[in-house]
Amino acid sequence: MFQKIGKATRDKLAKLGIRSPFDLLLHLPLRYQDETHLYPIADAPLNQAVLVEGIVTHASVTYKPRKMLSVKMRDASGMLQLRFLHFYPSQVKILTPGFTVRATGEIRHGFFGAEMVHPQCRVVKEDTPLAEALTPVYPTTQGLSQATLRKLVGEALQQCELDETLPPAIRARLKLANFGDSVRLLHQPPPDVAPAALDERNHPAWQRLIFDELLAQQLSMREHYRRRHARGAPPLPPGKTLSAALLASLPFALTGAQQRVAHEISADLARPHPMQRLLQGDVGSGKTIVAALAACQAIENGFQAALMAPTEILAEQHYLKLAAWLAPLGISVAWLTGSLGKKDKKAALEQVASGTAQLAIGTHALFQEQVTFSNLGLSIIDEQHRFGVHQRLALRQKGGEVHQLMMSATPIPRTLSMSYYADLDVSVIDELPPGRTPIVTKLVDSARREEVFGRVRDACVQGRQAYWVCPLIEESETLQLKTALETFESLSQAFPILAIGLVHGRMQAADKAATMAAFKAGGIQLLVATTVIEVGVDVPNASLMVIEHAERFGLSQLHQLRGRVGRGAAQSTCILMYQTPLSETARARLKIIYENTDGFEIARQDLALRGPGEFLGARQSGVPMLRFADLERDQALLDPARAVAEQMLAEFPEFAERHLARWLGQQQEFLKA
Ligand code: ADP
Ligand code: MG
Repeated sequence: MFQKIGKATRDKLAKLGIRSPFDLLLHLPLRYQDETHLYPIADAPLNQAVLVEGIVTHASVTYKPRKMLSVKMRDASGMLQLRFLHFYPSQVKILTPGFTVRATGEIRHGFFGAEMVHPQCRVVKEDTPLAEALTPVYPTTQGLSQATLRKLVGEALQQCELDETLPPAIRARLKLANFGDSVRLLHQPPPDVAPAALDERNHPAWQRLIFDELLAQQLSMREHYRRRHARGAPPLPPGKTLSAALLASLPFALTGAQQRVAHEISADLARPHPMQRLLQGDVGSGKTIVAALAACQAIENGFQAALMAPTEILAEQHYLKLAAWLAPLGISVAWLTGSLGKKDKKAALEQVASGTAQLAIGTHALFQEQVTFSNLGLSIIDEQHRFGVHQRLALRQKGGEVHQLMMSATPIPRTLSMSYYADLDVSVIDELPPGRTPIVTKLVDSARREEVFGRVRDACVQGRQAYWVCPLIEESETLQLKTALETFESLSQAFPILAIGLVHGRMQAADKAATMAAFKAGGIQLLVATTVIEVGVDVPNASLMVIEHAERFGLSQLHQLRGRVGRGAAQSTCILMYQTPLSETARARLKIIYENTDGFEIARQDLALRGPGEFLGARQSGVPMLRFADLERDQALLDPARAVAEQMLAEFPEFAERHLARWLGQQQEFLKA
């Protein structure tokens, strides 16, 4: 049937992602119109979609103040004005005086009396029957009418075989509706279907489609996981000496949660297949030491380990910390970033290539083409969510058949993580090291900036250290820099007695590192910073943080920033300054961060506020987005989808294959990347 469709229409369909009759069937209605009932114009309820019928009495296109098609129609009960700001010649043709038309839309009382803006209209005869079922309204694109879509879908319904892709036993166990019936019902709901069940998508037909979509996602990601898992990797069994020596040298004992995840990682490394594990833990939960232990295990087996971080500052911190832990144990650590001088870079590259360097730490420069390892056994990626999907895939490829540990401080609610990280094993550190005093969060109107100045001075005079985070200015990095410089100036003038430092993204790496080192050593009391300090900076004596224009930051960013304080024994405070007036969402966001300290709870509420697409951000969008399922609303289907995916891959591979082909088609290639 697709060959018979004209090219113009086919192109428009392609825009909607429809390339086959089957795609048409999965192009499900956004909502439905009730055209089973005709209202007299004068009695029709307001502000809800209604169907009215009347004779066109007047139609004109006017150009001032802007182009508009205005039409008047009347029935026995009254007059109705129809207005179109966007319209096609075909619509002008339909709305000719003398024609009887049916119009669907919401009636409002405007300046000229009852009116409908942008109604759906069609010409009818006196005896044209009313619809017997709800009328589907499809997502569409410019120039492709609902009528055309309905016709094409109708044809596809006749042509396609809507066979089952679920094994009968599984379908029966889950009490799921039949696939073919569900698809037909959603496109052409019979008159007795409750519109609410369709709108809220809890009708069994919707539930079936949503389940199938979640299942397809799980199947493809688990399949991806299985394929990588099937490869070989060097088994790296736990040794006795290195990790024990490292643990003995620490001034603290691991928390229960750290021990548990370290154990999970250690067991993965011992297997002859590549580890694919994500380590999640809130800011400050102590992921670094867990990574160091994993590195020790690789090194003890005679392999190299690599640790990559998204920013220079963070990579440098890791380098300093890990070198301090590991060098005394006789491990050689190399440092590799984009900003190294030519000579140093060459030397570092040689160490890595020859195997002299047992652990290489750096930014993504570390994994660029020119870098070859002598025998890499484990690659660790910190703050993995900061890397784009493509970068991450490239890293995995670079890693080849090595064990991979990804770490993330962006806590992701379990539902989301089950869905989006279904291709990884996940370990969670759900406990903070002991002895931390909870951070006190304050919300302060920026009109009270002077007062905040006073608090900063007092804290510093008492020997504590503070961060001052300058506002995020999305439109312009230059402007952001300017603000940081101005803040630095004004704070320096206000407090000549304090040692104040400044870090921002445009600084030379060496200057940045020197400033951070001075802050860490206590030489700088107050650090003015742009968001470069967001991740990983660890200065326990810093116990006050001020964030300007907190309303501009995302929740996870605020949470990360706030996590920079509260790392020592002193009571820490985070002052969130905001500029009034606040938008509704900004207010909701600030309330969440004010009321919660648990990163997972914040993430959960953030997800509820924004929805998964925005929550994960464009960076994550390499993962196919769900069209029908909503991870919050459809949570209950997620566990069964995951379990069924495993079962199908193991016991019913041919069903799994058909299901994937049906749902993902061409997309699957991408997932194989
Ligand atoms: P994150 O998970 O945010 O990367 P870090 O690994 O930087 O956290 O750890 C935060 C701080 O807590 C560091 O100073 C680290 O040395 C310290 N730390 C880690 N584990 C423990 C522990 N079990 N007990 C006490 N302090 C710990
Ligand atoms: Mg960290």
